[in-house]
Amino acid sequence: MLEIKNFINGNFVKCVSGKTFDNINPANNEKIGVVYEAGKEEVDLAVKSAKAALKGPWGKLPLAERMSILHKVADGINARFDEFLEAECLDTGKPKSLASHIDIPRGASNFKVFADAYKSVANESFLLDTPDGAGALNYSVRTPKGVVAVISPWNLPLLLMTWKVGPALACGNTVVVKPSEETPRTTTLLGEVMNDAGVPPGVFNVVHGFGPDSTGEFLTTHPDVDGITFTGETKTGAAIVKACADEIRHVSFELGGKNPAVVFADCDMDKAIEGTTRSVFANCGQVCLATERVYVERPIFDEFVARLKSSAEKLKLGSWDDESSNMGPLISQEHKEKVLSYYKKAKDEGATVVLGGGEPKMSAELSAGSWVEPTIWTGLPESATVVREEIFGPCCHIQPFDTEEEAVELANDTKYGLAASVWTENNSRAHRVSAQIEAGIVWVNSWFLRDLRTPFGGAKHSGIGREGGVHSLEFYTELKNICIKL
Ligand code: NAD
Repeated sequence: MLEIKNFINGNFVKCVSGKTFDNINPANNEKIGVVYEAGKEEVDLAVKSAKAALKGPWGKLPLAERMSILHKVADGINARFDEFLEAECLDTGKPKSLASHIDIPRGASNFKVFADAYKSVANESFLLDTPDGAGALNYSVRTPKGVVAVISPWNLPLLLMTWKVGPALACGNTVVVKPSEETPRTTTLLGEVMNDAGVPPGVFNVVHGFGPDSTGEFLTTHPDVDGITFTGETKTGAAIVKACADEIRHVSFELGGKNPAVVFADCDMDKAIEGTTRSVFANCGQVCLATERVYVERPIFDEFVARLKSSAEKLKLGSWDDESSNMGPLISQEHKEKVLSYYKKAKDEGATVVLGGGEPKMSAELSAGSWVEPTIWTGLPESATVVREEIFGPCCHIQPFDTEEEAVELANDTKYGLAASVWTENNSRAHRVSAQIEAGIVWVNSWFLRDLRTPFGGAKHSGIGREGGVHSLEFYTELKNICIKL
């Protein structure tokens, strides 16, 4: 049985309490490993190691050398691509076709992209007139924030964790990462890659465990943590804000969503169906940017519903290493119960179930896994629970609309503001509608097309701050102005 240990100061360690929890394969609900849960002692050791490493060789490395090490980290992930792939797929159940295309390559490229982005960022400078005529020169410099706690979710484990660790290290910080308790494998494997790439001990640390009253809380309340970058549920973000309020710790949050797709009658229907099939069902609907509310202009409503249904019927549920499968299970039995409870609520509240709505029949070896059917509903009012709450499963509700104004209003009628997709071939409409949608990212005629140089984050309850490209600098560095009287 695989033992998954904490990674502290360059070493893999168990934990003084000896406490472990199970690592489960969600495709069949089988135990595939044991994870050592970091208690207060291990979290403290990890934070102290990270703090010490700031003053060690890492803090003194010339920029070019730091960036070259980060390139080696990316190369190290790619060199062990198949190991990362298997680890990610066993933890999440996601199909190999998806993880080999998105999770692992993008997990690796996060180190190169951010290393390259920061090499050429200019700081500002202002010459100030003074009464004596000599003037004063202002210029800004950036210093690392310090010890950054990275708390990450289970849906894209390596990709979302490295999306934080990459820029944090590029900016000269040190990190303590707490991956989700559901997906500890690839973050742990990254420890080996860090050692091989020559990352000094203490720069990258990993502590395993849960949230409240466990590793996550011990980390967010640790007095020597200088900033917390978190991806996860909005209610967890609220708990973390409370936990670090007294110490005024800096936070960067990427939180939940209830993302709309708005499909106009002037869309290219083939593109809209293909894109919406991906945006609703990719990764079994467990993508923060996934579409859960679809608004379709009335003249094409019936055709759109019928075609999305037939497109979703072609999805093939199956094991991660089955080359023909393109949809995996949900992450856990607990999440399956949650998603099924929403499926029930939709029926109770009067939905027309266009597709799915229950548990699929799987083969004997997968029957104990966390499988649910791809599901489409129509006919619910906007006040219905499944239209308002984030479900994080492979499902959507489709609603007709009559005017552009109504579409914008419906899209914005949510406390969340993470992402949206607009489907139209009318360019003016595309600009007009995108500008009015309250979300951190709006895709027109596409979905999940990500340029890592662009700002990423959520409006309203979907986050605090922006990361990506030079925007990550705002969180991972302190910007200081130096004023020199000439
Ligand atoms: P979650 O909030 O349950 O857990 C995320 C992480 O926080 C885990 O590592 C967990 O152990 C930890 N945690 C939980 N409670 C904590 C506490 N009190 N203190 C410290 N740490 C704590 O989220 P999840 O279920 O892993 O992920 C799904 C959620 O993440 C969805 O809401 C999804 O929309 C969101 N998400 C957002 C983005 C984005 O970019 N905005 C990306 C991916 C996922």
